[in-house]
Amino acid sequence: MGTPDGNRFDVIVCGAGPAGSACAYYLGQAGFSVLLLDRARFPRDKICADNKSWICTSILKDMGLWNDFLKLPKQEISAMIFSTPGGHEIRVPLSEEKIHSDGPHYNVRRKLFDGFLFQAAKKQRTVKALEGFQVLGVLKENGRVVGVNGLDFKGRRRSFFASVVVGADGSQSVVAKSAGINPVVAERHATNARVYFKGVSCDRHAVELHYLEGVNPGYFWIFPVDGGLCNVGVGLRTQDVQRRRLNPVKELTRIIDSPRFRTRFSKARQIVPVGVWGVTVGGTKKRPFSGAGFVLCGDAANTAVTFAGEGVGPAMRSGKIAAEQVGLALHQGDVSAKSLRRYDDVLWRIIGPENRAMASLEFLIKNPAVFDFAVKRGAGRGDLAKLASDIASDYRNAARIWSPSTLFKLLGG
Ligand SMILES: Cc1cc2nc3c(=O)[nH]c(=O)nc-3n(C[C@H](O)[C@H](O)[C@H](O)COP(=O)(O)OP(=O)(O)OC[C@H]3O[C@@H](n4cnc5c(N)ncnc54)[C@H](O)[C@@H]3O)c2cc1C
Repeated sequence: MGTPDGNRFDVIVCGAGPAGSACAYYLGQAGFSVLLLDRARFPRDKICADNKSWICTSILKDMGLWNDFLKLPKQEISAMIFSTPGGHEIRVPLSEEKIHSDGPHYNVRRKLFDGFLFQAAKKQRTVKALEGFQVLGVLKENGRVVGVNGLDFKGRRRSFFASVVVGADGSQSVVAKSAGINPVVAERHATNARVYFKGVSCDRHAVELHYLEGVNPGYFWIFPVDGGLCNVGVGLRTQDVQRRRLNPVKELTRIIDSPRFRTRFSKARQIVPVGVWGVTVGGTKKRPFSGAGFVLCGDAANTAVTFAGEGVGPAMRSGKIAAEQVGLALHQGDVSAKSLRRYDDVLWRIIGPENRAMASLEFLIKNPAVFDFAVKRGAGRGDLAKLASDIASDYRNAARIWSPSTLFKLLGG
């Protein structure tokens, strides 16, 4: 354990985003030899809204990276602003108690955050990182994944071998596909367009999510980041994009130029071209996240939370769980599908209840009239805003939307 031998390692981690870097970091801490591969060179951008919530910050603390994280350029967030297709708006402060104990949420640009995490993983003595390496697929022997092949930065084909391969290569994961699991689930896939502006008129301590008519159940967002910038974007259900032949970039421009938002952007300057990227959010039914000789984490395993779209913290959390379970399997000398299925069980025990609870918001968000009514009512009532705040603290609280007392409050109590 712990001595990389040329092209053979205990574990190959494909993808050095939040999932892969966290996984490699924990495996490195445990002394396993790890090859961490990414097709990009860090620091690299990633199309995202840049929000880091308490799932993310708690893992950073667990990793011992908290003080270094606090030195990154960032924007503190203490509230969320939601609006409905009918234009009703509600401001939801994050839980004061939680802010007091755990700090606020932070918006940190992914270029900075992912570069920071990647360097932390790379610093581990037994982690070898290779940037500019594109994984083309897994290598199998007798049905078991035993390594990967791909192209290095000079376009040379190379193969690497390991007892376990971790697929942390994002929402289009080639590791998942080549191992026989499709990471893209059409009905839960969102297509997003994102851009940075300087000079948008906004509350810099709040993230804004506007569920506009024609965009709902997707949303238009304005998330302030460091340096007076705002991360601005729109997320659309991919099935709507296809059915209605929507162009996400044009949709974003249309919303920014609309009478409702135009004045807020009148002094704003776009500082990068619009980027487009997709993600499949988590579902309510368990899917396989592993097989003989491999595990999947982060977007490759659809760990982003349904509706919320939060994926960075959940990706890191899955990377940590993957490292623990892969470590256990390696110690036991058993990397069979049965042994690695423990990872699925542990991960699902956490994300299953979150996804099921968040799916219960589906009815609300997909029915504009009900959504309008609930937000209009909630705007004048502290207890409904409190529920929204509690959901931000723990997604499992979303299940409370169906509790008799909530329904009573919503329907007129
Ligand atoms: C528009 C948008 C907005 C979002 N906003 C938020 C937000 O505000 N907060 C939040 O928490 N989550 C957000 N998410 C979700 C979040 O971005 C993802 O869930 C998160 O990035 C998942 O991390 P990951 O490490 O699994 O994958 P990624 O971050 O995608 O990292 C995968 C890595 O794998 C590498 N890679 C891919 N293919 C290969 C290959 N073949 N060979 C080698 N390397 C490869 C990539 O270069 C990349 O570095 C958003 C997503 C989108 C699309």
